[in-house]
Amino acid sequence: MIKVQRVVLSSRPGENGHPSPDNFRVEETSLCTELKQGEVLVRTLYLSVDPYMRCRMNDDTGADYLLPWRLEECIDGGGVGVVEASKNTQLAISDIVTSFNWHWQTHDVIHGNCVQKVDPRMVDGHLSYVLGAVGMPGLTALLGVREKGHVTCGAGQTMVISGASGACGSLAGQIGRLDGCERVVGICGSDEKCRILVSQLGFTAAVNYKKGDISTALRGNCPNGVDVYFDNVGGPISDTVISQMNSGGHVILCGQISQYNKDVPYPPPLSEETREALRRKNITRDRFMVLNYMDKHKEGLELLSQWVKTGQIKVLETVANGIENMGVAFCSMMTGGNVGKQIVKISD
Ligand code: NDP
Repeated sequence: MIKVQRVVLSSRPGENGHPSPDNFRVEETSLCTELKQGEVLVRTLYLSVDPYMRCRMNDDTGADYLLPWRLEECIDGGGVGVVEASKNTQLAISDIVTSFNWHWQTHDVIHGNCVQKVDPRMVDGHLSYVLGAVGMPGLTALLGVREKGHVTCGAGQTMVISGASGACGSLAGQIGRLDGCERVVGICGSDEKCRILVSQLGFTAAVNYKKGDISTALRGNCPNGVDVYFDNVGGPISDTVISQMNSGGHVILCGQISQYNKDVPYPPPLSEETREALRRKNITRDRFMVLNYMDKHKEGLELLSQWVKTGQIKVLETVANGIENMGVAFCSMMTGGNVGKQIVKISD
């Protein structure tokens, strides 16, 4: 038996409520480390907090592929860790493993079939990237752009990205640039984030949606209109972008975070004006789901790994420390406290 710390969901914010760190509770418990055949003991290195978790805080997630977190039970999500003991023939001590359903717990005993082995060379030893640029958010950016963006090198396209300074957005803009967009314009929530997008990530321009009139700022930065829109946020920001899109443009419907604290279906209904703009200008707006492209994940991760290692893509992260800060980190990410991927470091 060893003592471990874990995080349980202690209350729900309500479908129309804002999540608070008080919804989470850290507790100590005992873990039996006697392994059955096939099991491994893992120590958690990094945990991920992601916007989709907001719907797991509700009784009903509204999505058939996501189960609600249960009250008073240990929370799970993306995680990466190291094998400390093994009774699995495929996994040895010191192997690095990851899973989408990692418990928010400092150590765990899991069946080897429930984790995927990670080659640390894919991330140059930077293991948190497994949860970000060379993981699910990286694939979301890459496959979102490639499957739904219709980017054509040399066509002089302008791409706009909302939620541009976050995990997916910061990568989507860089991928749009690498794939040949002429202008890549980000929308995000602070002047400092705007500065980082342009000076560090090579965005053409960035607009702070919390300051001034986005419509005017966007028009100034997209003089030829918008051809491709990577939409992470929805709501009024997206209405404004869509109103400035060119005929035959493409919306990559990645996420709608501005609506996640509301009891609305996904994707949330659009205003009649925006629906009419989409129809009139023959703009595609297909829902994108990274999990629908499992067959493209391996190749995608190899490309992302290559781009990161060669510096063609810059990776931004915000790292919180300690399992006791999981709830704080989640709520901070939901309100823009992060630049790049929000990670929580659990152990060295
Ligand atoms: P981020 O790292 O982008 O973090 C969330 C960001 O959203 C915050 O930093 C904040 O930045 C912004 N934000 C929060 N509230 C609002 C608001 N009301 N209006 C505008 N911006 C807001 O998260 P991810 O990169 O992990 O996720 C981005 C989006 O992609 C989410 O919508 C998520 O659901 C979606 N997603 C979709 C996937 C798919 O398969 N379709 C897979 C993974 C993610 P700021 O300071 O700019 O406000």
